[in-house]
Amino acid sequence: MRYAEVIVDLSAEAVDRRFSYAIPEGMALEPGMLVTVPFGPRTLDGFVIRVTDHCDLDPAKVKPVLKLQRDEPVVLGELMDLADWMHQRYLCNLVDALRLMIPSELRGGRVREVSTRFAHLALTGEALEAFIAQNKRAKRQLELVERLRSGDVETARLDAAALKALEKKGAVTVCQRERRRTPRALSDESRTPDPTLMPGQARAVERLTGALETGGRFLLHGVTGSGKTEVYIRLIRRALELGRTAIVLVPEIALTPQMVSWLHGRFGADAAVLHSALSAGERFDEWRRIRSGEARVVIGARSAIFAPLENIGCIIVDEEHESSYQSDHRPRYDAREIAWRRAGTHRAVLVLGSATPSIATYMRTEHGVRPENRLELIELRQRVKDRPLPEVELVDLRGEFDKGNRSIFSEKLASELQTCLDTGHQAMLFINRRGHSTFVSCRKCGYVVKCAQCDVSMTYHQSGELLRCHYCGATQPPPRRCPSCGSAYIKYFGAGTQKVEAEVRRLFPQARVARMDNDTTQRKDAHQQILDAFRSGETNVLVGTQMIAKGLDFPKVTLVGVVAADMTLNLPDYRSVERTFQLITQVAGRAGRADEPGRVVVQTYDPEHYGIRCAAMQDYRAFYTRESANRRLALYPPYSVIARVVFTARAPEAAENAAREAEKAMEAWVEAQGIREHILQLRAAEAPIGLLRGEYRWQLFTKLYFKADTEAVARQLRALADQAPEGVRAELEVDPVNMI
Ligand SMILES: [Zn+2]
Ligand SMILES: [Zn+2]
Repeated sequence: MRYAEVIVDLSAEAVDRRFSYAIPEGMALEPGMLVTVPFGPRTLDGFVIRVTDHCDLDPAKVKPVLKLQRDEPVVLGELMDLADWMHQRYLCNLVDALRLMIPSELRGGRVREVSTRFAHLALTGEALEAFIAQNKRAKRQLELVERLRSGDVETARLDAAALKALEKKGAVTVCQRERRRTPRALSDESRTPDPTLMPGQARAVERLTGALETGGRFLLHGVTGSGKTEVYIRLIRRALELGRTAIVLVPEIALTPQMVSWLHGRFGADAAVLHSALSAGERFDEWRRIRSGEARVVIGARSAIFAPLENIGCIIVDEEHESSYQSDHRPRYDAREIAWRRAGTHRAVLVLGSATPSIATYMRTEHGVRPENRLELIELRQRVKDRPLPEVELVDLRGEFDKGNRSIFSEKLASELQTCLDTGHQAMLFINRRGHSTFVSCRKCGYVVKCAQCDVSMTYHQSGELLRCHYCGATQPPPRRCPSCGSAYIKYFGAGTQKVEAEVRRLFPQARVARMDNDTTQRKDAHQQILDAFRSGETNVLVGTQMIAKGLDFPKVTLVGVVAADMTLNLPDYRSVERTFQLITQVAGRAGRADEPGRVVVQTYDPEHYGIRCAAMQDYRAFYTRESANRRLALYPPYSVIARVVFTARAPEAAENAAREAEKAMEAWVEAQGIREHILQLRAAEAPIGLLRGEYRWQLFTKLYFKADTEAVARQLRALADQAPEGVRAELEVDPVNMI
């Protein structure tokens, strides 16, 4: 008798172990296969982890595997190992990691390949012409024949009577065939010719392709507009020539449509696109094209790093500084870390690319970093065609206020916008807050309208005349009188995208404004429609949040305005300066990408701040030097590791008590381990947002010296989280994506 050790597809601590099942006669199982097994009173899917000849249980009690889902492993051996590593590294259940490796359609017996009936034209050449001549009066039939001339068509889309007649005459045959659902992004764009490389690009390509034999890890640091994509394309092409495959990760497919269409334009059917906006069916079809070796280049957001490719030659992580590469729910993996690992396994070339690399990544290029952690730095210092970087001007908003200018536009930005519109160019205005006014407050007593479910102020949205909570989505009408003192002096403060849009309309009648933020992009393909209208010139001013900051390339944009640069500067997060620098540098980089030079106006209340000044000078090195020194002084990551357990509960005291209990237990553990000097901070405190979606939040916050045994501490924190009392949810976060 042979047995299969199976992990069942149920995410719970209690079943996070292998269960043994007997393999029925005639069923050939391998690790990585998906099976159906009996589990208590129900049947579940499960992943085969191992096949053995023995079983410790009483053979009479071992139940048999009921069914094999597909006759090939759904998880490749390499990815099985990766899942196991993730289980250790991210302290998640093994099944949580395994689930990431397959499309959801494969689970729960939902899938089915869609097969459809297609009509096919059976006649060609003279026979076809003769047939047409003989059937001149059968108009409907001839229409159908015309349609089929350019390719097979699903029978469901054709006139049934005409089809039947044609089938009878032998002119058309009908066959049953699998239908593949092709995602929209793949359907457009024809093959694009190769542009000429700049010397810097050529050197980068040479170094990277040269490393394809041995593998290697690189940071490609190129200023905005330096043509990183072209370097990626050449590297991928070389990898394919060598019979290998490639993965390209982008932060969000919807926000980087150009990158996707460039890649697709160059690799055509060799490319597969994976992202969350695909329907389950599309995702499954793309996955199968990859698994079968039909698609050799995979482009996708975070989870595409798990694509079932074999013999990977290169993995590219574009805009590597984006926080979206880190998952903010279980398993809390970091796609860059997975990329690092897979590249090692395949002896592939790993390229992390950015104009504004994260501090932690750039630090890995410095001397003295151990070879196994080191990245080789490749720089692209010039823009393509030697275009200059845009000129950036800082405007001190305090001066505007003194001059009596109460508008959200400084004189400088207003006049630049006027010139831009007068000369027939386009402008982008960036403000990192959606809605109209960011908070509503009483002028008499200072009362601020907050969400009843969350400890955050509500944002006024002009559309619908509502106050809206950006964390839970709750809405309420704006108050006429102050709920606290009854005064009628209610004022709206702080600007968001809607207000900027309204101001542009009011002050510049010739502007044709579009707005791109979370509110205007809810419908499928809305992003694309807004960008298409801007590209065609139908609109000439694009107002947006960080959605417009990255990857966009519009030749007619000569002016970029950053309406409020310091908005993100003072968030309670050690990365707030880094994020501000990245956002301003990236958005400034949208200007002057064709032959017209670009201008950028950055409005700020804090023009002396190094984050804003370095961004204005587009001087990454200067920023890096200053910021990394600050991190070192304050012992923030990468000089330390932050880990926290967030306790959430409906009852006000429950979360607090749980956090305080955990703090005591953790203190005792640290003492017992004798690792006090490795713990820089350990305290229970209310989370920065203490009430969210009606639940109270406390945290056990820890900051560990970078030499500490982070894994041991994390395991202990996870154990404490698992012991949280009834009614309290506890979640461990190592390197939290955000600190709210
Ligand atoms: Zn009041
Ligand atoms: Zn809320």
